[in-house]
Amino acid sequence: MFAIRYPIVQGGMQWVGRAELAAAVSNAGGLGIITALTQPTPEDLLKEIARCREMTNAPFGVNLTILPSLRAISHAEFAQAIIDSGVKIVETAGRNPEPYMAAFKEAEIKVIHKCTSVRHSLKAQAIGCDAVSVDGFECAGHPGEDDIPGLVLLPRAAEELTIPFIASGGFADGRGLVAALALGADGINMGTRFMATLEAPIHRSIKERIVAASELDTALLMRQLRNTARYFRNKVTDQALAVERHQGAELTIEHLGPFVSGQRGKIVYESGNADAGVWSAGMVVGLIHDIPTCAELISRIVSEAREIVASRLTPALACA
Ligand code: NAD
Repeated sequence: MFAIRYPIVQGGMQWVGRAELAAAVSNAGGLGIITALTQPTPEDLLKEIARCREMTNAPFGVNLTILPSLRAISHAEFAQAIIDSGVKIVETAGRNPEPYMAAFKEAEIKVIHKCTSVRHSLKAQAIGCDAVSVDGFECAGHPGEDDIPGLVLLPRAAEELTIPFIASGGFADGRGLVAALALGADGINMGTRFMATLEAPIHRSIKERIVAASELDTALLMRQLRNTARYFRNKVTDQALAVERHQGAELTIEHLGPFVSGQRGKIVYESGNADAGVWSAGMVVGLIHDIPTCAELISRIVSEAREIVASRLTPALACA
């Protein structure tokens, strides 16, 4: 469907999904994704897409996340910029992308909608999405409110969906790729794993912090607001959690805005100070142990997956 060599997609990531990373992933045979809202304006997005085209001839996509935000965002104008750019793959995430579907289809754009539940996946299928990215509770960013991990969510999606889907949340290596395929997915989506690559346009200290982290190093905020987000656990998430406990049922986004602001997260990635704000990371940080190039990472995942099938799965079933 996407004319890529390997079933590995780099999911949208605020402040990380820039041209350098998307081009590196696409050049390595995966599907790179530029994050639209990382760009201040739709015009800047058009420039970023042009910059990516200078770095790769391979297909890449653009992520458009539709969620409540602190700054006013015209999602319609960003959607129009994507259409005008001529990019033919869009990853939507967050709220229902239905308002933009007719225009995307008119432009012959393939739409992958990221969903955290089977019911939202079925809705995406019903409104004409070409594929879905099914995001388990392990994931970075917004895991939804159902808290169903991939081990149950993915086979449930496989039972219900007729369109292809990729598995998202908790994937970092060949073991994950084999597991995702076994559970019924057609490929994997990785975000956090691609943050710890040489080409990810973020400060080296943050990549090293990911490598040093364990699976216990994430925190969930905004649960009471039903806009749950998983971040790397740091001083700011601890402070925000204290505010959440203190406010209880009275909590509003005004209490949390100073802590969760994406503008502070941007400073984290630029300065390398992991405590300058909140920044998204999945539980998969516990499985990330190095900072390879995207090409090394993708080729390692594919060869590990082949090795697991040949040396572990096939013999294990042959003696049954
Ligand atoms: P931001 O600074 O505008 O907002 C920070 C956080 O507060 C975001 O998670 C946002 O959803 C939440 N928020 C803002 N207003 C809210 C409200 N009225 N009610 C409840 N929650 C509210 O966000 P940003 O970091 O500049 O990111 C821009 C967009 O990208 C946001 O929509 C954000 O949610 C999204 N994003 C998505 C992911 C993901 O996992 N898909 C990861 C990072 C950012």
